[in-house]
Amino acid sequence: MALRSTGKPPSAASGPNPKGRRWINRFISSDGFEENAYLFGDAASRECVLIDPGASAERVIAYVESEDLSVMAILATHAHIDHVVSAPILSRRFGTPFLVHAQDEGLLDGLAQQAASFGYKLMEKVKADGFFQEGTVFHVGSLSLQVLHTPGHTPGSSCFMSGGDLFTGDTLFAGSIGRTDFPGGSTSEMTRSLKRLASLPEALAIYPGHEGESTIGEEKATNPFLLSLYNAQDHG
Ligand SMILES: [Zn+2]
Ligand SMILES: [Zn+2]
Repeated sequence: MALRSTGKPPSAASGPNPKGRRWINRFISSDGFEENAYLFGDAASRECVLIDPGASAERVIAYVESEDLSVMAILATHAHIDHVVSAPILSRRFGTPFLVHAQDEGLLDGLAQQAASFGYKLMEKVKADGFFQEGTVFHVGSLSLQVLHTPGHTPGSSCFMSGGDLFTGDTLFAGSIGRTDFPGGSTSEMTRSLKRLASLPEALAIYPGHEGESTIGEEKATNPFLLSLYNAQDHG
């Protein structure tokens, strides 16, 4: 089953949930990229944001409508095709803006070329309705979601943090990190961004753009890319 719940669904969130009223639902695309789109929301107000609108639009729409949710914004951790391809259709459907970091606007402009390089044809141009930056805070019911600009995978790559949750896009994965050899990628910026993420609380749960969840502490202890950062630091 492609739709997996990683938190309390809205209708069940009144139980003893240590994370309070927040819930997260993950939708994995079946287009070959296996990209994770997440709905992050407040169970009480039924408001949510959609993070990374990949090729799972129909399932996201069905879920939002069946749970009677209000999507307040559509956010992209970065402007790679697998994370933004459904932004236009979902933005229209939910009547809500699609936002990215300004430094990824160039990638959006070149999306057709990006799609072609993966053997895909872009069906519709993707344009941002607005931009966020480091420190931007989105209010989702009683919750707030803060932008951390973490360039390296792309110039505008960003993470979104709320309470004990961090959406890491293609910056940090469970056991790996995002590539830096695509256009706009930077190894030195990635190193700085990873050091910043590694300085966050170890209990912070991470929700990456591909594959499964982890925590900052688990990644610091086992992720070879983070371990090598620390080794490099230890030896000056
Ligand atoms: Zn990417
Ligand atoms: Zn990706």
